[in-house]
Amino acid sequence: MSNIVEIKIGREDVGKGCITVPADRKLVGRHHAKLLIDRDAQSISIQEVKASNGTFVNGLRMASSGPLDKDDTVYLGCMDEAMGFKLNVRKIFDLITTDYSREFQQEVIPVYENYMEELNKLNSKFQKKMSMPRNIVMLSGAVIGLCFIGFSGLIFGEKSSAASTARLVAMSVTSVLTALVAFLPTNHKQENVKEQSLDLLLKYQDKYCCPKCGTKFNLNQHWKIIQASGCPNPKCNAQFKK
Ligand SMILES: [Zn+2]
Repeated sequence: MSNIVEIKIGREDVGKGCITVPADRKLVGRHHAKLLIDRDAQSISIQEVKASNGTFVNGLRMASSGPLDKDDTVYLGCMDEAMGFKLNVRKIFDLITTDYSREFQQEVIPVYENYMEELNKLNSKFQKKMSMPRNIVMLSGAVIGLCFIGFSGLIFGEKSSAASTARLVAMSVTSVLTALVAFLPTNHKQENVKEQSLDLLLKYQDKYCCPKCGTKFNLNQHWKIIQASGCPNPKCNAQFKK
């Protein structure tokens, strides 16, 4: 069974869900035409009902009925908006069109992929930068500390109080060095990375959106999840997979 919706167009109030033309457009019939919308085929055709002054598609008076393309310019009555009526064909097509898989492939997926690529680059750059000096200082701290602990007995005599003091100093130096490395530089760099990640987010988040209604998606959500569920806006019926 086909899924065809009929939309009446006319100067008379033709009812809910229909297109009522303003009463002063005298050349438009009271029951001028109807649109036949095939949701399955995603196609629209127009059929005149009582259109004594005709219907014009792309500047030519059409036969009593015919299919419409979303780029068609359609006037009812005459090609002058004072007396006739211009039909917003694109808007009607937008309402019935649900398949945005091509736009999703071409516009949405690359945004996510590029964002992730830049984010990964940023993270690995940070890790490389941080790991070398950090490891060297931590290792030095540990070596100095261990040397002191190991040799303090030899230097100062096993039971001397100097040995205990030296051990204590060694432990302190090790802790302080490790703490310095663990907190100060890392925090600073992490702030930097956080800032740059935020810049990335701002750069991409506006472009990661529904190609039909513009609703923004969450960049933390992989495009495959969005593709599977369709547009999250309940008023938008855009689907992204064939
Ligand atoms: Zn949408």
